[in-house]
Amino acid sequence: MKLYEPEGFIYNADIYCVDCFKKHFKEGEEEGIIFPDAEVDSPMHCIECEEVIPTDLTNEGINYVIEKIIDFFADSRGRPKTLIQWLNTWQEEIEGEIISFIYDSLNNAAKRDDVNDR
Ligand SMILES: [Zn+2]
Repeated sequence: MKLYEPEGFIYNADIYCVDCFKKHFKEGEEEGIIFPDAEVDSPMHCIECEEVIPTDLTNEGINYVIEKIIDFFADSRGRPKTLIQWLNTWQEEIEGEIISFIYDSLNNAAKRDDVNDR
């Protein structure tokens, strides 16, 4: 059993999940291999089936995902199906951060209220 399987492949600058890549190309034809511990600043998706490529996210990547989720609640921007994929893939990473984000935002708003009340 291989413990360190690719999660995706890069071909002609496009990203493919393993299944879609294997439909069109042979292993070895790829220009790059995406392993599960690759760290990215924003989620990658297969160009063909749009499945998320489950890599690690940098802090910037986690913040990016949280911002997109907040945007959705603020004004319905973004695609809910994509946001659900992201939550399913990085639930643990996002959970704590999103609570901190909500507290920070509320605390800042509360401080503004205090200033305005004076
Ligand atoms: Zn695919």
